[in-house]
Amino acid sequence: MNILMIGAHPDDCDLRCSGLASLYARDGHRVKFLSMCDGSGGHHILNRDEIAARRWGETREAAKVIGIEYDVWNIPDCEIVSDLRTRARLVNYIREFRPDVIFCHRTNDYHADHRASGLLVQEASYLLIVPNYCPETAALKRMPVIMFFYDGFKNPPFVPDIVIDTDDVVEDKFRMIDKHVSQVYEWLPYTNGTLDQVPSGPEARYEWLHGDKITADTADDEVIGMKGYSRRFALAAALYRDKLIARYGEERGRRIRFAEAYALSEYGTQLTAETEKVLFPY
Ligand SMILES: [Zn+2]
Repeated sequence: MNILMIGAHPDDCDLRCSGLASLYARDGHRVKFLSMCDGSGGHHILNRDEIAARRWGETREAAKVIGIEYDVWNIPDCEIVSDLRTRARLVNYIREFRPDVIFCHRTNDYHADHRASGLLVQEASYLLIVPNYCPETAALKRMPVIMFFYDGFKNPPFVPDIVIDTDDVVEDKFRMIDKHVSQVYEWLPYTNGTLDQVPSGPEARYEWLHGDKITADTADDEVIGMKGYSRRFALAAALYRDKLIARYGEERGRRIRFAEAYALSEYGTQLTAETEKVLFPY
């Protein structure tokens, strides 16, 4: 299968769907991350060119961790809008890759770039099959399935359709985000006011990256109150325990600590029980 995961920035897919990406990649499927923006807004010291170049290098390193492709477009951070030019660019790009499933942001999100990139995917979806639109690339015969990444925004709320066990690949997720040094150890701590807490040295900071520890005995309510990336990667399991039990059975469903949740877009091809088994065999 061809799997396309589209984020606004060069770390969004890593943070949101790299567990499922790793599962697909392990099974030999072709996985591509696309960052629609160049990452040039993401630093407090480096200028746009400097941080964009550094982040491009970070995506090279992150992609190697799980053996995927990683494209970064040249749209400056904070400047992506759903205009006709970008819509056509995205339609051509998707048609060339011919994905079975596309993953993207929902359109209600705190960041304007996340909203715009999610909207662009929604707007592209039907146009993918219209031959008279962008005739320079062959139209697809059918729309891909489109899934939204989990987000915590409540108005309207995220309602998961599929929740995937990522216990076996959670360390891949940490290893991937660890490559985004300029973000997880510099820019994001700067914006959170925690820059003085980041340890020096790669091993100490990698340990710090995990945040509060989650063990087999950690209750779901405790997870919700924790801090750090372990909490973030465990949140879907804690919030949607009933979905995990429905998918994996009582015993495994209760044991899972780390999970990723996805919601189906109404504007792509809809899932049936049969196609869900093929596209999400986990
Ligand atoms: Zn982002």
